[in-house]
Amino acid sequence: MFHLVVTACLAADPSICAERLLPTPGTLTEAACIAGAEARIAAWIALHPDLAPGDWRCRPTGDLPYLDLTEIAPKVLVHPGQSEPVSVENGGDIANLGVVLGDSVAVIDPGGSRAIGERLYAAIRRITDKPITHVILTHMHPDHIYGAEVFAEAGAKIIGHRNLPSGIERREAAWAESIPLQAGALAMLGTRAIPPHRTIAAPEKIDLGGATLRLTPEATAHTDNDLTVFHLESATLFTGDLVFAGLTPSLDGSLTGWLSWLEQAPSPLPHRIVPGHGPVEMEWNSGTAPLRAYLTALADQTQAAIQAGEAMSDAATHVGADQQDGWKGFAEINARNAIAAFKELEWE
Ligand SMILES: [Zn+2]
Repeated sequence: MFHLVVTACLAADPSICAERLLPTPGTLTEAACIAGAEARIAAWIALHPDLAPGDWRCRPTGDLPYLDLTEIAPKVLVHPGQSEPVSVENGGDIANLGVVLGDSVAVIDPGGSRAIGERLYAAIRRITDKPITHVILTHMHPDHIYGAEVFAEAGAKIIGHRNLPSGIERREAAWAESIPLQAGALAMLGTRAIPPHRTIAAPEKIDLGGATLRLTPEATAHTDNDLTVFHLESATLFTGDLVFAGLTPSLDGSLTGWLSWLEQAPSPLPHRIVPGHGPVEMEWNSGTAPLRAYLTALADQTQAAIQAGEAMSDAATHVGADQQDGWKGFAEINARNAIAAFKELEWE
């Protein structure tokens, strides 16, 4: 199987260039890859007008850079993101990404940049040439969704929560500025957010052939567009950022909603949980205990500050601050969470 790779440079700064993989649906021979290359590049550049194309070549799967995937259950694989804030060093590769194999392939979160999505695509292609039919986005945050366009080009349908399109629309412009500052313009080259092809408002099952996924759009918690994915055959629950470990949880939805989601253990109880960030094999009670403790403290201390008549800016200097042990990126994320919690709880 061959893949089209083009060197693309930022039109605004031609010194910033990277090789981008341009997948197409199905599998290509070397001859077919070469024959379609010029038209494919022109169509892709039309959608990425900030880039200028350079040389291109057709490469076999084995020559592509790829992410490491760990098999955590039969036919269930995870790429463990680095559980830390986005940096130039990690290039946005901080979220856990899932792959489920059946007669076709599903991806659960395609990663935090186009480059990461391409390397996930290459990792899957090293294992199987079956069609990648579904990409499920667990929520709107860029470290989870920015790789989606790669898989859409490969023919996958992108699926998300009913509220996902409006969430992406609301933040897209701000992310396009802030994320390259955090991860570097090179890491984000060619990256753009795309809306899902299809959204869901009620639980539904996806049959991949030999693998079944149950998708559940959740009430507002981490964000207003959280969606969990349960792999029935292995009882693996992909929670997205409804569960964090290691990286400080970020509150971008509803603190009370998140706490009530955590209160109710999933049914059936999963054999393993893949959180959005942190170790991929965890048991429900012990795995969610640190998150529950942090969010409970955030809620309790915010309520106390409101009752004491504190201003939000004062509350943000100390609410949650005694919870920092074991969390990366704590000071900055916690301060934002304290403000979000105050805004939510002051009206209750
Ligand atoms: Zn998130």
